[in-house]
Formats: sequence, C-alpha cells, structure tokens
Amino acid sequence: MALYDFDLFTIGAGSGGVAGSRRAASYGARVGICEDSRWGGTCVIRGCVPKKLLVYGAHFADDLKDAEAYGWRLKGKTFDWPSLIAAKNAEIDRLEGIYRKLLSDSGVKLITGRGTLVDPHTIEVAGKRYTAANILIATGGHPVTPDIPGIEHVISSNEALDLKELPKRIVIVGASYIAVEFAGIFSSLGAKTHLVYRGEEVLRGFDGDVRAAVAENFRHRGLKLHPRTEIARIEKAEKGFTLATKSGGNLEADVVMYATGRAPNTEGIGLEAAGVNLTPDGRVEVDEWSRCLVPHIYAVGDVSNGINLTPVAIYEARALAETLFNNNRLKLDRANIPTAVFAIPPVGTVGLSEDKARERGAAIDVYHARFRPLKHTVSGRQERTMMKLVVDRASDRVLGCHMVGDDAPEIMVGLAVALNCGATKRQFDRTIGIHPTSAEEFITMRDKTPEPGPVPDFKIGAEG
Ligand SMILES: Cc1cc2nc3c(=O)[nH]c(=O)nc-3n(C[C@H](O)[C@H](O)[C@H](O)COP(=O)(O)OP(=O)(O)OC[C@H]3O[C@@H](n4cnc5c(N)ncnc54)[C@H](O)[C@@H]3O)c2cc1C
Repeated sequence: MALYDFDLFTIGAGSGGVAGSRRAASYGARVGICEDSRWGGTCVIRGCVPKKLLVYGAHFADDLKDAEAYGWRLKGKTFDWPSLIAAKNAEIDRLEGIYRKLLSDSGVKLITGRGTLVDPHTIEVAGKRYTAANILIATGGHPVTPDIPGIEHVISSNEALDLKELPKRIVIVGASYIAVEFAGIFSSLGAKTHLVYRGEEVLRGFDGDVRAAVAENFRHRGLKLHPRTEIARIEKAEKGFTLATKSGGNLEADVVMYATGRAPNTEGIGLEAAGVNLTPDGRVEVDEWSRCLVPHIYAVGDVSNGINLTPVAIYEARALAETLFNNNRLKLDRANIPTAVFAIPPVGTVGLSEDKARERGAAIDVYHARFRPLKHTVSGRQERTMMKLVVDRASDRVLGCHMVGDDAPEIMVGLAVALNCGATKRQFDRTIGIHPTSAEEFITMRDKTPEPGPVPDFKIGAEG
C-alpha cells in the first residue's frame, strides 16, 4: 500500500496548479487538487481572459469610428455594457467547465474547498485530511489597497469586470499594467476616465519610450492623466464620490478603482505549521526549481517570488512535473520573457529596456521608428506606432524589442524566439519582411539614435 494518498497534492486550481497537476497525472502520478473559488484561477475567471474580452469589446468603438472613413455607414449603432458583461460571463463559465473537465479527464482528483497545511505531508480540505508525498502551493494572489479614509468605497479589478453599468466617470488609481488596461477599456467605451498615479510616468519597469508613448496615446484619446498625484481620502458625494488629493485638489467619480498592487495568498493556509519560508513581502521563497526550504513542498506562480504572468506560472508548474515525474530536469529560463499591456493600442516588449541595457555598462546602439500606421492614413486617427530595438554594440546581439501599436503583443512572441536564439541586428536586417505590415519595420530599422537620443520625427505610412 502507498505511504501517502497522493504523489502530488496541489493547493489552488489556477494557471499554475491546473497545468502542473495535469502534466504530473499524464506521467501516471496520483494527483489531487483543491480549489476554494472558481476553477481556472485569476487568469481565466478575473484576469487575462475576461479583461481581454473587454478590451476586444472596447476596440469596436475605434473600429466603428474608423470604418466611416473606409466607406461604412453605420448610423444608429449603440453600445450596451450589460450585453458585453453577459457575453464575457458566458465565455468564462464555458472555460471553467473546460478546466474542470481537462483535470478530471487527466485522472486528477478534484476536491472543492480551501486547502490548509496541517504538517509537511498533510493537507486539510473541508474537514477531510489528505496526505501527499509532494505538495504544490499554487494559491496565486489578490488585490491590495492602501489604508486611507474612504477606501471601503473603492473597487478592484475583480469588481471592475462585473460592474452592473458602465460608469460615466471613473477614477483609476495606479500606474500598473492593470490600471492602464482598465483605463483603456473604460475610456474607449465612453467613460470620462482619470488615471491617477504617484510617479512621473505609467508602467514602471517598461522602456522609457514605451511609457511615454502610452501616455501620449492616452492624452490624444482624451484620457486625463494625473502624474505625481496621491489620494488622501475618498468621500461619498450626492452623486458618486469625491477624491481629495494630497496636494489639495479634488476629483469626482461614479466609480473609483484601485490597481495599486497585489499580494500573495499565503496567509492562514498553515505555511508556518509546515515550515515553509516566506520572503519579507510574504511570498513563498523558492529556488530556480520552485523548491522551498522544506523538501517536497514547492510553489509556483503569483504566490512565489517569481514573475507574475500566466505563461510563467504554467511553465514553472509543468517544469516541476517534468522534474518530479518524468525524470526530465527542467526549469524556467527567465531571460527574454515577452510581456504585453493590452492598452488601446497595446504594448509588446521582450528583453532589456534601454535603461537596463545601459546599466550593464557595455555600449549599446538604439534604433527607433515612429510612424502613423497605414490604416490610420485613411482613418485619420492621430495615433503613432512606436518601435525600438536595443542592440549590444560589441556582439551585435539584439537585447530588447519594444513596441506600442496595433498587434504589438502578437508580434512580440516571434521576436522572443529570435532573442532566445541569440539573434543579431545583422540577422534582423537579413530577414525579409511581410509587406505591408507594421512588423516589417523591426527588420528595416537602419539609423542609430544618436546618444543619448530623442525619438526621431514620425514618418507617414511606414507600411505604405
Ligand atoms: C486583472 C488582471 C489581468 C491580468 N492579465 C494578464 C495577462 O494579460 N497576461 C498574463 O500573463 N497575466 C495576466 N495576469 C496575471 C495572471 O492572472 C497571473 O499571473 C496568473 O493567474 C497566476 O497563476 P497562479 O496559478 O499563480 O494563480 P491563480 O491563477 O491566481 O490561481 C490561484 C488559485 O488558487 C485558489 N486558492 C487560493 N488559496 C487557496 C486555498 N487555500 N485552497 C484552495 N484554493 C486556493 C484561488 O481561488 C485561485 O483559483 C492578470 C492578472 C489580473 C489580476
């Protein structure tokens, strides 16, 4: 008889938990997984997927306007927020069902309820105890808000995805990708949108030109940006809310959304009882193999001290299953992980920003392009696409690719492959593009930006 009930027990059925459990079961491991909310986790239920569906919904506002210039007569079209939310919810319900089915079809035992560790080999869920040779903590994270007067009036991204009606006026506090994405959604759909943040620019950590381009596009769209601004308190007004800023200003809104950070779900799940080590900010501290200090207890995804992205959680969890159950030692390579911000238009980026590349001390060359995309030469939309390459001068290797413009996230996955293969600028130059596209600009950039360089003036119709 087996020593434990399971070879692997996973706490949390989000991106990481589901992927790792299924992969482990595919190698014959006996796997159990518990979930105390909806199956699929943040990404599927209240993150990437519903958010992107709302981004698609918001895009139609632009498309319908632009269509006029292309000959379409679309009088009388109106937008109905409840219909968009209902369609989004139907798709999320469908996906949740698929996640459950994929797990059970793989032979994983699904257990509903909150999992807590009782000791290093025992998990309790809904009053029942299960033992496991290995335990995977994949509990993800949750939004956090600062402790200021009136904070009880605000919503997070969770509630923003399910508002009963489209607010006429919304204030979004934060400069994270989540704040920026929701600002794009609400403003495109017609809400008077204010984005309030402490720093100078949105999207800390991204390339400086990306940050500037996103802000510029937002301003063009009438979105009101409030850099260097902090909220002191929020009060209920006759209609909506009044926000008082620390510098003495006031803002009015029907809805106030905070996207100022997320914290790991590590509290109250018995981690201390099992001896699991945490970082000072409460994440499960793991090594490159997702191991914490207790042998046989692992953590992946947002709950750990890694990068908070769905493909990262999935890769870490699958790599762990390969290592434990397929004799195939695999770990995540953190270099060149592409990422996107689904603003309107979106950001795609991979590799080093110009600042990060300069911090290494070695000489770099920077190439820029900034142009009005062909589509908008006819639509008349005042929107620029920005592209940038950061190249190591000595080796000619491309260190970073950055883009703000339509299809940037789609383009960036291919460029991530190139960077992972160690592509040089010369190899980019030798590649034949597809015409007419925006993407071809990445392989035709010739002029180095003088050091330190301003962005050159845009040219009309780079695709033309
Ligand atoms: C608004 C928003 C938009 C995002 N957009 C993107 C995007 O476009 N691209 C991208 O790559 N990433 C995006 N992310 C991040 C992405 O969602 C996360 O990185 C990813 O979901 C992390 O997966 P995970 O498995 O670590 O945790 P999660 O997906 O959060 O799953 C954790 C699961 O564990 C469950 N759980 C927690 N505690 C317990 C317990 N004690 N017992 C049982 N179950 C428990 C939770 O209910 C949850 O279902 C977004 C996040 C948000 C909030």
